[in-house]
Amino acid sequence: MSEPVLSLHNICKSFGGIRAVRDVSFEVEKGEVLGLIGPNGSGKSTLFNCVLGQLKPDYGEVYVNGQSVTGMRAASLNKLGVGRTFQQLSVFPQMTVLDNIILAGQEHKGTMATRLFGPPDAGLTQAADQMIEFFRLEHLRDEMAGALSYGQQKLVDAAMAFMAGPSLVLLDEPAGGVNLTMLSNLKERLTTYNRTHNTTFVVIEHNMEFVMSLCTRIIVLAEGEIIAEGNPDEIRSNQKVIDAYLGG
Ligand code: ADP
Ligand code: MG
Repeated sequence: MSEPVLSLHNICKSFGGIRAVRDVSFEVEKGEVLGLIGPNGSGKSTLFNCVLGQLKPDYGEVYVNGQSVTGMRAASLNKLGVGRTFQQLSVFPQMTVLDNIILAGQEHKGTMATRLFGPPDAGLTQAADQMIEFFRLEHLRDEMAGALSYGQQKLVDAAMAFMAGPSLVLLDEPAGGVNLTMLSNLKERLTTYNRTHNTTFVVIEHNMEFVMSLCTRIIVLAEGEIIAEGNPDEIRSNQKVIDAYLGG
């Protein structure tokens, strides 16, 4: 059996007295689409931030392709092929869609100064255009990102995450606030990308229908702990999960 793409060992993270993540361990295999669900405040974003270098876990280890990356910064993780999308939008509103996506492609190359003031890179423009086409954003290519609808900005955010050619992408609520048409577009694009690139996804999402149809395996967090793990059917009928969502 091959090495897991992502492996979490006993991750713990507290904020003052709040134990946001309590001893969470799991592995993600190459090409898997794993869903991470749980009620609000159950520690999902905190766990992502511990994996992605925004937060340092109080305890525990994170491995990417067998290499310890605990506490490693996002820029270094990018170089290892780890990308992310944010729960809060991270596009630059005063830049065009194209420029946002080009900038994301430059993220793993050079400093902010060379990114902003360096010479334009024809190769990157071409790659960005391919990504724009893949996400069906051609008609918005030269619009200011800030002028787009929320759902469209979410798609731009996803396109940005894919620009570095990641082997693992963590998506924090990619479908949040996205309308139904956009939602099925996003799901279809993620599924296609997964199949064609064998890219591994870990997806936090509140929209159950989206998670259940996108993911092959689901892990459920409640109060910072894993309370269930299984395929969508197992999760749907799991009493602990039902209770957690009902606040029981
Ligand atoms: P989720 O993403 O599952 O909704 P979070 O990871 O955002 O949950 O939050 C888990 C818990 O940690 C919550 O009780 C939240 O209030 C708390 N928390 C998250 N981030 C911080 C922070 N930066 N400072 C203090 N408390 C935080
Ligand atoms: Mg969150």
